Amino acid sequence: MDEELLPMIYETLLAHYGELQWWPAKTPYEVIVGAILTQNTSWVNVKTAIANFGANLSPESVANTDIAKLAETIRPAGFFNRKAAYLKAVTEWFERYSYDVFTIRQKPLSKIRAELLSIKGVGQETADSILLYAFGFPSFVVDAYTVLLCNRFPVETGKGYAAVKAYFENNLPQNAKIYNNFHALIVINAKKHCRKAACDGCPLSETCGKCRLIRDKNLSNTAHIL
Ligand code: SF4
Repeated sequence: MDEELLPMIYETLLAHYGELQWWPAKTPYEVIVGAILTQNTSWVNVKTAIANFGANLSPESVANTDIAKLAETIRPAGFFNRKAAYLKAVTEWFERYSYDVFTIRQKPLSKIRAELLSIKGVGQETADSILLYAFGFPSFVVDAYTVLLCNRFPVETGKGYAAVKAYFENNLPQNAKIYNNFHALIVINAKKHCRKAACDGCPLSETCGKCRLIRDKNLSNTAHIL
C-alpha cells in the first residue's frame, strides 16, 4: 500500500481549491441539523429548510416545538416527518450535555460516536459529520464521493464504510483540520469533475489511474484511425 498516496491526493486538491471552510453553518447545532436534513436530498433543499427556521434555529427551540410544526418547517428537505423525529431524538441527546459543545469535546470520541450511532436516524456518515464538523473530533467522514475517488485511482481500501474510514484515518495524520478539508475537497472535486469522469482540468489527472486509462484508450483509438 502506498502510504504517500492519500497525502499526495490531499495536497494536490488543497493546492488547487484552497481551504474550503466547511461546514457551511453558523453554529455547531446548525451542523447537526444539516447533517440530519441532508440525508437523501440535495444541499439546496437543506438550505431552504434551514432558512425556514429564521432566527429560531437552536436546540432549545427545536426541543420546545411540536413535532408536526417541526416537520412542516423542514418540509423542503423531504422525508420531513421522519427527519423531524430524528431531529427531536438528536436534540434530546444533545440536551444530556446541556447543549454544550465544550463538555462533549472533553469526552472520548469513541463514546460520543457510539452514543450518536444509537440515536434513530443517525448512521455512520451522519455521526462522523457531526463529530467532525460540529464538535471538531478527528473522525473521517466517508460518503459516496469518497468511495468514487478511491475506485477511480484506484485505492484499495477494503469494502464497507468502516474499512474506507480506517484506511483514510490510518494513512493520514490524526488531525481534524485535515479530515475537515479533505472530505470537503473530495466532495467539491467529485461534483466538479469526478462523478462525470470529466478529467480535463481535474487537479488529479496526472496521477489518477482512471484518467490514465481514458487517455491511453483515446490515444490507441487515434493511432488506429491514423
Ligand atoms: S482524473 Fe478523472 S477519474 Fe480521476 S479523480 Fe479526476 S475526474 Fe476523477
